[in-house]
Amino acid sequence: MSSSPKVSIVVPVFNERQNLPKLHERLTATLDGTGKSWEIVYTDDGSKDGSIDLLKQFHAARPAEVRVIEFERNAGQHMAIMAAFERARGDVVVTIDADLQNPPEEIPKLLALADQGHDVVGSIRKNRQDVGWRVWASRAMNWVRERITGIRMTDQGCMLRAYSQLVVRQIVATGEQSTFIPALGQHFAANPAEVEVDHAARHAGESKYSLYKLVRLNFDLMTGFSVVPLQLFTIVGMLVTLGSLALVAIILGRRILIGSEADGVFTLFAFLYFLAGVMIMGIGLLGEYVGRIYQEVRKRPRFQIRAVHEKLDT
Ligand code: UDP
Ligand code: MG
Repeated sequence: MSSSPKVSIVVPVFNERQNLPKLHERLTATLDGTGKSWEIVYTDDGSKDGSIDLLKQFHAARPAEVRVIEFERNAGQHMAIMAAFERARGDVVVTIDADLQNPPEEIPKLLALADQGHDVVGSIRKNRQDVGWRVWASRAMNWVRERITGIRMTDQGCMLRAYSQLVVRQIVATGEQSTFIPALGQHFAANPAEVEVDHAARHAGESKYSLYKLVRLNFDLMTGFSVVPLQLFTIVGMLVTLGSLALVAIILGRRILIGSEADGVFTLFAFLYFLAGVMIMGIGLLGEYVGRIYQEVRKRPRFQIRAVHEKLDT
């Protein structure tokens, strides 16, 4: 008998004590209802609110199905998922947030599409329950990302997604330091699909994402999946050079025909400030890429696992 379950559910957990009991109850009820064999892999991402104690209880209650990875310290949502991906054994691996924004009851929808042969099943939040600016910001970022990286996802922020074991293996094999799992999944997908799912407001607690973290995430998306920003910069540089050349020709002609000019000093400043801005931006952009290369070559461990609570000899 093969001991691998059909379905693995992967849940990153960071200070979600208030949400965990409800989540676990609804998850197990849904999974038992599917009639498939399953496992849940929770990663406790360095929670400080005692989430790990609850997770250990879940494991104790169903040791064969519930596995818990305990991080030494907070490594971020995507690293928490990555650690679980390294261990998930299911033919289909589903990621879901712990805050009950994605209803666990929607999982069978994803599994149905996976059964039809889709190796990545993304999801679109039907009536997104997030604060206004986040909805708009993520829509704008979606638009930019699609154009720059060519990765098509209607709703990049929805983490309720299903991946085939093969895609999961490919994602794990990248070994990248800072990454965005849905984009990687989409990148490796041969036959992706999307499905609409319900979205609820956070059940309890606060979002772990600040505006700064969201901006960082989107920089990572751009620079981690494309060199188009660098190429755009080269093009802008070329256009500015051509424009400047035209300006030189005009001023030279004017000097010969009309004579030298002393006015226009501030126009000159305006041009220079603008160009200085463009150059500083370019250096920053280069820095983004160099920084990524630096992170990768350092080869520091991406996360530190304190303990794994599991019982695999089923
Ligand atoms: N999370 C995590 N590590 C972190 C931040 C978040 O494991 O450093 C988990 C969190 O517990 C939740 C999921 O990632 O299960 C999504 O986080 P959150 O709900 O704060 O993000 P949002 O829904 O606001 O994008
Ligand atoms: Mg959330």
